[in-house]
Amino acid sequence: MSTVLMNGEFIPREEAKVDIEDRGYQFGDGIYEVIRVYNGKMFTGNEHLERLQASSGKINIQISYTVHELLVLLEELIRRNNIHNGIVYMQFTRGTCPRNHAYPTSEVPPMFIAYTKPLERPKENLANGVSAITVEDIRWSRCDIKSLNLLGNVMAKQKAAEANCYESIQYRDLTVTEGSSSNIWIIKDQTIRTHEANQYILNGITRQKIVEICQRQGLEVKEEAFSIEDLIDADEVFLSSTTSEVTPIVSVNNVPVASGEVGETTKTLQDYFKKEIIACCGEIE
Ligand code: PMP
Repeated sequence: MSTVLMNGEFIPREEAKVDIEDRGYQFGDGIYEVIRVYNGKMFTGNEHLERLQASSGKINIQISYTVHELLVLLEELIRRNNIHNGIVYMQFTRGTCPRNHAYPTSEVPPMFIAYTKPLERPKENLANGVSAITVEDIRWSRCDIKSLNLLGNVMAKQKAAEANCYESIQYRDLTVTEGSSSNIWIIKDQTIRTHEANQYILNGITRQKIVEICQRQGLEVKEEAFSIEDLIDADEVFLSSTTSEVTPIVSVNNVPVASGEVGETTKTLQDYFKKEIIACCGEIE
């Protein structure tokens, strides 16, 4: 039986219940984060919790915990559930009150839950790459907020699933924005490129790490939007996310990317990224 965190209390999974008028349940009015756990340790935990605080600030949900307090609670949750490799999922909603679109005017405490899930590294995808399709980005224009409103993302991922693909690459007016649950990157003539961090994408923690790695290693990196045409014409394409790390994309819309093999620069970035994980969490396979 696993343990979950509910408003700061550790309780058995079976006892965790949500009210039908919780605003997260009714409106998707809340925010969330997913943190990777390797060898029982959180990777980039601080960065994720700082982004959580930033998201909460953008929609005025008051989180009464500091980043440090949250880290301590999540570490304890990981310990209690004996998670070796996995994830911690957490969300804050605006709490429970009679249904009304506007924020409650009286003090309503946010609802905080967190739980863990065992998950191994996606070794096969990392080694062989995955397929993707392109889909129109039909989402709103505050994709920088890691909100529970994921309907656009869910619909995009479903299209990928129906096409037997791993990810949907979304575009807005022929500009590639991001994946349904990842950031998208291209490499052309040794230059590594991903959409700038603005309101049309989520500024992935993995994305930020990769930019940092490129800058440190002297690899040319540009945070600059690119077109569908650039995507089709790229030497290499990959996606990044907490659970997928640096995953090569070897075909787009059923057409191989360049030779259809995993690219050398992508492999180099995978190696650097793995070193970051090892430096933080110890040896991984
Ligand atoms: N964009 C979207 C829409 C996502 O859902 C995710 C996954 N959380 C990402 C990008 C990648 O973010 P991160 O590297 O922080 O997991």
